[in-house]
Amino acid sequence: MSDNFLNDEIFSNFEKSEKIFIETENSQYSFKKFNQLCNKIANFLLVSKIKANDRVLVKLEKSVICLAIYIATIRAGCIYIPVNTSYTPSEIDYFIENSQPSLFIANYESIKNISNKNIKTAQLENDLSGPFLEKIKSQKNIFEPIKRDKDDIASILYTSGTTGRSKGAMLTHNNLVSNTKSLFKIWKFSDNDILLHALPIYHIHGLFVAFNICLFSGAKINFLEKFELETVIKKLSKSTVMMGVPTYYTRMLQSQKLNHLLTKNIRLFISGSAPLLAETHKEFESKTGHKILERYGMTETNMNTSNPYDGERKAGTVGFPLPGINVRITNPKNGEKLGVDKIGMIEIKGDNVFSGYWKMKKQTNNSFTKDGFFVTGDLGKFSSDGYLSIIGRDKDLIISGGLNVYPKEVELLLDQNPNVKETAVIGVPHRDFGEAVVAIIVADNKKNLEIEIMNSIKNKLANFKKPKKIIFISELPRNAMGKVQKQRLRNIYKNLFD
Ligand code: AMP
Repeated sequence: MSDNFLNDEIFSNFEKSEKIFIETENSQYSFKKFNQLCNKIANFLLVSKIKANDRVLVKLEKSVICLAIYIATIRAGCIYIPVNTSYTPSEIDYFIENSQPSLFIANYESIKNISNKNIKTAQLENDLSGPFLEKIKSQKNIFEPIKRDKDDIASILYTSGTTGRSKGAMLTHNNLVSNTKSLFKIWKFSDNDILLHALPIYHIHGLFVAFNICLFSGAKINFLEKFELETVIKKLSKSTVMMGVPTYYTRMLQSQKLNHLLTKNIRLFISGSAPLLAETHKEFESKTGHKILERYGMTETNMNTSNPYDGERKAGTVGFPLPGINVRITNPKNGEKLGVDKIGMIEIKGDNVFSGYWKMKKQTNNSFTKDGFFVTGDLGKFSSDGYLSIIGRDKDLIISGGLNVYPKEVELLLDQNPNVKETAVIGVPHRDFGEAVVAIIVADNKKNLEIEIMNSIKNKLANFKKPKKIIFISELPRNAMGKVQKQRLRNIYKNLFD
């Protein structure tokens, strides 16, 4: 036994098993074969002189190799930092500057574009060619994991920054272990399960919630590179659990093929990362007979609450706090604890809660109360029978297609155009994306300004953050304190995409 906490508690159960663990369109990995791949990569890290606590920054398309890099990084005692592949070079430069990684693994294009040329890199192309795999091949397939304790950092996940800068949430070995074990138990996972995995793996949902549970329980993964409706529909009959964001469910509802028969082998549909409309919940049940189980979590806290497996799954709620996790509602103005049915700030305490933002002491301190609760920025309320509902977001976070967009970051870029006087970026309801990014702009009347603005942000923002529509108005609505009234704007434009 190596005393690498996460490895020993979660990853070591099935490592010698010949049982199929991951199946893709054109490959199959047993637990044993996957374990050996992880060990080869861990040995590569070791010979590349990547030491315990070093950061490994990874910008790769979804693949089994990418999953193995995650496990290898943990075994080598390092800190795993996956980032969304749609980030632009300037966004990657920021992550490099902030996290100071010892290794950056990405494709040639991404490596070529980074400003810091001193950083060690490993190249893996989207089609899985490139020198990285060549170097892995010659490594030994056994590896003694490096010692790591419960409170050591396992991963840093970047959230989108409320002030334009992303914050790196430090997740410890124990954060991940405690949450995996809780979810495994309440969602009744076993090695008979087959998870349909269409989520991205740079985010807490697809990486830690989905993947860690399968490693721990011995479940098989039907691994899809992305959510593609026809493939998902095809794989449903061969799976027992599906995890998704609400957009997946609205898209599935558009398929004529979705019905009771197609989903008869599924024992659980789970949704999270953004609000699932009660309407979607109902429609899905009437078409398939399944009540989607909605849960609530975030990068900084892993999963916090879940609707029950056996009890009533209430549409429009995110269920009960997970065992051992303390969830309370407080008055955002004075921190006073609020009772049943009162809307307030959701605050969380438990083994699931991260240990702070990497190199951001001030932001970390501001995010915790004196008695150690994390202030989520989400507003919610408890019903008298203990179900939590999320009412809105204190911070004006937009969730588009399950991905977070902080308006401030987009606004700062739009404001750079000399003809733009002021901007307000909001999320408005959108059938497909849940919410779509819309920019409301006050500007000088100039021909082709919209095209000019869109061109200027083309290479600076990931696609999911770019406005789906720009609206020019003469003045932004403000309150007496001078604050832009975004809620009013959201109301005005709520039917924009109807
Ligand atoms: P992320 O850090 O990307 O996982 O985003 C976390 C945010 O997503 C939370 O703070 C919530 O605002 C939102 N969120 C996650 N799950 C749900 C849910 N089931 N219902 C409503 N909002 C959710």
